[in-house]
Amino acid sequence: MAAVESRDNQVVAAAPLLAELADIVGAAHVLSDPDLVAGYVTDWTGQWRGAAAAVVRPGDADEVAAVLAACHRAGWPVVPQGGNTGLVGGSIPMEGEILLSTTRLDQVETVDPVGRTIAAGAGVTVARAQAAARAHGLDFGVDLASRESATLGGIVATNAGGIRVVKHGDTRRQVVGVEAVLADGRVLTRWKHLAKDNVGYDLPGLLTGSEGTLAVITRVLMRLVVPATETQVALVGVLDVGSALTLLDRLERAGRTLEAAELMTADGIALVRAVHGLRAPLSEDTEFVLLVEVSGGTLAEVLAEAPDLVIDAVVEPGPARRLWEYREAHTESISAESATPPLKLDISTPVGELASFLLGLDADLAALDPAPRAITFGHLGEGNMHVNLLDVPDDRREELTDLVLARVAAHGGSISAEHGVGRAKAQWIGLSRTEIDIDVMRSVRAALDPAKLLNPAILPS
Ligand SMILES: Cc1cc2nc3c(=O)[nH]c(=O)nc-3n(C[C@H](O)[C@H](O)[C@H](O)COP(=O)(O)OP(=O)(O)OC[C@H]3O[C@@H](n4cnc5c(N)ncnc54)[C@H](O)[C@@H]3O)c2cc1C
Repeated sequence: MAAVESRDNQVVAAAPLLAELADIVGAAHVLSDPDLVAGYVTDWTGQWRGAAAAVVRPGDADEVAAVLAACHRAGWPVVPQGGNTGLVGGSIPMEGEILLSTTRLDQVETVDPVGRTIAAGAGVTVARAQAAARAHGLDFGVDLASRESATLGGIVATNAGGIRVVKHGDTRRQVVGVEAVLADGRVLTRWKHLAKDNVGYDLPGLLTGSEGTLAVITRVLMRLVVPATETQVALVGVLDVGSALTLLDRLERAGRTLEAAELMTADGIALVRAVHGLRAPLSEDTEFVLLVEVSGGTLAEVLAEAPDLVIDAVVEPGPARRLWEYREAHTESISAESATPPLKLDISTPVGELASFLLGLDADLAALDPAPRAITFGHLGEGNMHVNLLDVPDDRREELTDLVLARVAAHGGSISAEHGVGRAKAQWIGLSRTEIDIDVMRSVRAALDPAKLLNPAILPS
């Protein structure tokens, strides 16, 4: 892209490309009016506010291919965007890139109840994929609180996790095939309804988690799962992380299948209650609250046999939305309560390290002056915690990120468990990957997108 010094210069430089893009997708789907573009260039957290030469909304894969080919000829970078619910700033253009929105790729094509797959456009939301699967007595294997807006292309591009990983694995485990457009406009199709297919490299697996840097995903073929017929949900007050993990172990050994296992703290529950006006879920206040959903038997008897672990508990038959609300309202309540965009650090440690990591982190944060307000919650089964620091001024974000991620690295963890690297974590990637690893990633990227036009500012740059 030509050096852009001001918005006026940028408009002039982009004009011929935008005219070409309007010919491809129709003028109504090339947005450059700042008022129309504003919502696309601000991320969900409010931390990232960028600028795009235009928002382009192709209606099918052919149009995506033509748009990318035109941008490639013009040497103009492109940032793909789905539902814009990402939490690491990866979907936000910051320097006048073209923002390619996939929201019009919104066809649920087929649900195959025999092969248990769904074929759909990348812009279909998770909630719509779930509804389509449920109409056939099946379910979609990924679920997360952003389901109404997050798209299938987005969850594949970020390899999203969510609340069902403990049962079904992450998004990568659900991907059977993809159609994706490469930076130069060529369409890559790996689309076979096969449970086993070992011909060469796993390219759908490679695109999963590539955060818009290797291709624009236009269609996905994803696995569906058989839902549990009956589930039970409990909120369980426990003394510490070790007790919560031991309880999960006992539930599994008692023949229960874990459908979800989420950990919250007393501070997190208090914050959600204040924002949503909810009653205390348990009669006793405990340092940690475990939300557990199981199938394959009741919860009450296993909990009753664990008085050494359970301080207090409430059990309801699934889906128990009333109990889930305490967990699902965390992300949004934290945003509502923080005076600045919350500093969100999605990390994982080996499960056995989680307790000592959290104790160490508490001590690190308490030693600071002023100590930041922290709310930590997350997916206990995978050792994946979301560390949220509230009211952090801009000039402390880097120092605090350094501190948390250094502790993660010291416990052998990952600086990004499920949200990706995006812009937010790019400078810390070396804490989780070796130089050679990063070098190989750069080579893969250079092979697929030598001019580095797709989401150029994120992942290894
Ligand atoms: C309330 C809330 C709860 C959340 N809970 C979870 C959770 O439990 N687990 C979890 O993992 N995440 C969670 N998230 C984060 C977010 O929802 C996921 O990262 C989701 O996968 C993003 O999907 P999206 O369609 O919004 O993608 P976007 O935000 O639009 O984009 C995310 C990244 O993917 C790229 N991208 C998007 N679409 C495409 C495409 N078609 N082709 C190529 N690249 C593309 C973008 O360039 C960007 O880098 C949550 C977010 C919110 C707001």
